[in-house]
Amino acid sequence: MTERPLKVLFLTAEAVPFAKVGGLADVAGSLPLALRSLGHDVRVMMPRYGTISGERFELVKIGERFPVPVGAGREHIHLMATTMGEDVPVYLLWNEHYFTSREKVYGFEDDAQRFTVFGRGVIEAIRLLDWQPDVIHANDWHTAVVPTWLDVSGWREPFFRDIATLFTIHNLAYQGITGRLILTFAQMEEVKHLSVEPPGAVNWMAQGIAHSDLINAVSERYAEEILTPEMGMGLEPLLEQRRDRLHGILNGLDYDEWNPVTDPNVPHNFDIHSLGRRAANRTALQQQARLPIRSDVPLLGMVTRLDHVKGMDLVAPTLNRLLQEQDVQCIILGTGDPRYHEALKALQERHSHQVRAFLKFDEVLARRIYASADMFLMPSLVEPCGLGQMIAMRYGCVPVVRETGGLADTVIDHRPGRGHGTGFVFEEKTPEGFLEALQRALETYEDRETWRAIQMRGMASDFSWTASAKAYVGLYRSALSLH
Ligand code: ADP
Repeated sequence: MTERPLKVLFLTAEAVPFAKVGGLADVAGSLPLALRSLGHDVRVMMPRYGTISGERFELVKIGERFPVPVGAGREHIHLMATTMGEDVPVYLLWNEHYFTSREKVYGFEDDAQRFTVFGRGVIEAIRLLDWQPDVIHANDWHTAVVPTWLDVSGWREPFFRDIATLFTIHNLAYQGITGRLILTFAQMEEVKHLSVEPPGAVNWMAQGIAHSDLINAVSERYAEEILTPEMGMGLEPLLEQRRDRLHGILNGLDYDEWNPVTDPNVPHNFDIHSLGRRAANRTALQQQARLPIRSDVPLLGMVTRLDHVKGMDLVAPTLNRLLQEQDVQCIILGTGDPRYHEALKALQERHSHQVRAFLKFDEVLARRIYASADMFLMPSLVEPCGLGQMIAMRYGCVPVVRETGGLADTVIDHRPGRGHGTGFVFEEKTPEGFLEALQRALETYEDRETWRAIQMRGMASDFSWTASAKAYVGLYRSALSLH
C-alpha cells in the first residue's frame, strides 16, 4: 500500500534565497524542495524582513490584514505569498514594526518579542489559508511558540487538534531566553514553568522541546552529544526526559548548487575522473592569494566563521607550529570575531610566503578554495551538522576534522591498510591533537595513489538531500501516530 502524501508546514526564521544568516537558511531552502519532489505538499512560512524585496520575489498579497493576539491585541499582519523552486509555496508574514522595518534577521533587543509575534501570527495565518497541515515542522527557538501553543491551547479547537509537530534543533547555543512577561504578551499564560528554565524566565528552545511530538537534531552524533552536561547547554535534563522522542537526521547538501562539474565560479571544472584539473585551479588560487606558484607543496584551505566554536583557538597555535616544521601553504577565508582577525593577520605576517588570510565573506572565493585546496581544515569544538566538510568532499578536498557532531558522522578517518577513509579525524581539543591529524594527512599526501583514492571516496559519498528528506518523512509519520 502506498502511503498518502503529507501536508507539512515548515516554519523558519531564515531560508535561501530570501534571507540567510547561517546553515539553517540552507536547510530551509533545500529540504522543502526535496520533500516536494517526494510528492508531499510542503509549504514554508517565515517573517518578511526589510531585505526581502517584494519586486524581486514577486510577492503577492493574500487576503486582508489580520489581527494577532499579542500584547494589547493590536498587532496586525499581512500575509504575502511566493514560491521556492518551482512549486513550493512560501508565505511571508509582514508586520512593519517587528519585521519589515528591520534589515537583519536577528540581533535586536526585542528578538524574543519579534519571534513571539511571528509564532502567534503563524497560528492565525493558518486559519486564513484554508489549508490544514498534517504536521508542523518547527525549526530552532524562533518558531517554538507554535508547537507550544498547539500543545497548550490548540487542542481546544478541532481545526488544530490533530496537527502533529516536529521540532528540529539546529543549534542549541541559541535558546531565546526572556522574562516570563513574554507569556502575558503572547496571551499564553497557561504555559508552565520548566525546571530547566531560570526562575522568572521563559526559554523558548526548551518549550519547543517540551511541547513537540518529536524532536530531532541535525546529526545523530549531535543528538547524542546534547544529552551530556558538556554539550547540552543546560537543557540536557529536559532532553534526557524526552530521549525516546529525540532523533538525529543529517542535513543534506544541495548537489546542484554545489557541483564541481558545473560550478561557474570554478575556473577549471572537474569531476571524479578528471581530478588532475584541480591543479590548474590551484595555480589560479595561488596567484589570487599572491603566494608562490608551486605544484609541489600541499595546500591547506579553510572557509569558516571566525568563532570560538569553530575551533579558532586551535588554528593559529597549530599552524604556527606546522608551518615552522613543514613546507605547506595555507589559505584561510573567514570573518567574525576581531580576536581571530588579529591572530590570522599575525600568522600571515609571520609566514608571508606560506599563509594568506582573506578576512571577509566571499562566496566565489570560497568555491575556489574548495576546488583547489588539498586539505580542508575544520577543527570545530561543536558542529551540529556542518556543511563545509561535505562541500569539501564533493570538491575533492580532503577534510581534516575534529570528531564531533556532523563531522563525526560524515568523515571516515583514514587508517593505513583499511581502504575506506574519506579524511582525517582527531578527538582531542588541543593543538597537539590537531597537529597529529595534520601530520598524518601530510604523510599520506606523499603517497599519491592513496591520496587520490581518499579524494575519490569523498567525492563518491552521497550527502544529497534525498536520503535525509526520506528520513524526515519517516519522522513526520511517527509524529502523527504519536500525536
Ligand atoms: P555554520 O553554519 O556553523 O557557519 P557550516 O559548515 O554548516 O557552518 O556552513 C558554513 C557555510 O558558510 C558553508 O557553505 C561555507 O562555505 C560558508 N562560509 C562560511 N564562511 C564563509 C566566508 N567567509 N565566505 C564565504 N562562505 C563562507
